[in-house]
Amino acid sequence: MSGVLSELTIARSNWLEYGNPETTREVVVAGVPIGGVHPIVIAGPCAVESYEQTLSAARAVAAAGGRLLRGGAFKPRTSPYSFQGLGSEGLEILRAVSRETGLGVVTEVQDPRLVERVAETADMLQVGSRSMQNFPLLVEVGKAGRPILLKRGFSATLDEWLCAAEYIAREGCLDIVLCERGVRRSASWNEARSELDLGVIGPARQATPLPVIGDPSHATGDWRRVEAASLEALRAGAHGLLIEVLPPSMERTDLRCDPLQGVSADTLQRLMDFARDFQVPEPKGDGAIAAGADS
Ligand code: PEP
Ligand code: MN
Repeated sequence: MSGVLSELTIARSNWLEYGNPETTREVVVAGVPIGGVHPIVIAGPCAVESYEQTLSAARAVAAAGGRLLRGGAFKPRTSPYSFQGLGSEGLEILRAVSRETGLGVVTEVQDPRLVERVAETADMLQVGSRSMQNFPLLVEVGKAGRPILLKRGFSATLDEWLCAAEYIAREGCLDIVLCERGVRRSASWNEARSELDLGVIGPARQATPLPVIGDPSHATGDWRRVEAASLEALRAGAHGLLIEVLPPSMERTDLRCDPLQGVSADTLQRLMDFARDFQVPEPKGDGAIAAGADS
């Protein structure tokens, strides 16, 4: 089959065009710089379920010293019968809670047609794991004039992730924060959840100037494992964390989305205190980017 290989194009991200990886770009979200010496913690409920529930979580975030609230108005759910988020009403709640607490808003957009509307409320737009290769969405968010939180697809290679970021960068938006949210592990137990891929954090930092944060909440799916995984992510070189919080006013069993992974206000406080004093270490890894077939 000589000649076949030479017909294949290889997808390689090319971040060197967009800045020197040795200098991390500070991405400023609602006045908060991500990518600096100390890690930043973005926190909030999984979904915006009501004004009271969101305010309760936001107050816990603010009390712990956090400045960025994350909560979903449009939720990517595996089953079409699950709660899909409050949509536009959720955006209104986020606006009201932000006014009340002074926190900046990070929230997900899934539909390219809704980017403008979500960007009116969001200080930062989240592209979720399932949307990482929704290319029309990546192009739209790149034009929205907001910083982007780009989660890694849970089966995406490093290079696929960086290529996805490049779709956004090509639109003129370099304010991108990469988020490692765990990769699928064996389905033999806890099939819904993943494992934080600590080994990708260093190489992602070595390949791009972008800040990289870790999401131990979705990676572990278990509030009892979030704190330990957070410390591991920070020691692996993450510039911050995305943490889901159990709103203090709620019982776990009353939540409609990801009820098992929200940490208590006390745990959040401990994590924020740790992050405040912690210095982000130099990235570890060999800097190699695995090439993938162009798919
Ligand atoms: C979320 O951030 O609430 C979420 C659904 O995460 P992911 O896209 O990583 O699964
Ligand atoms: Mn969630």
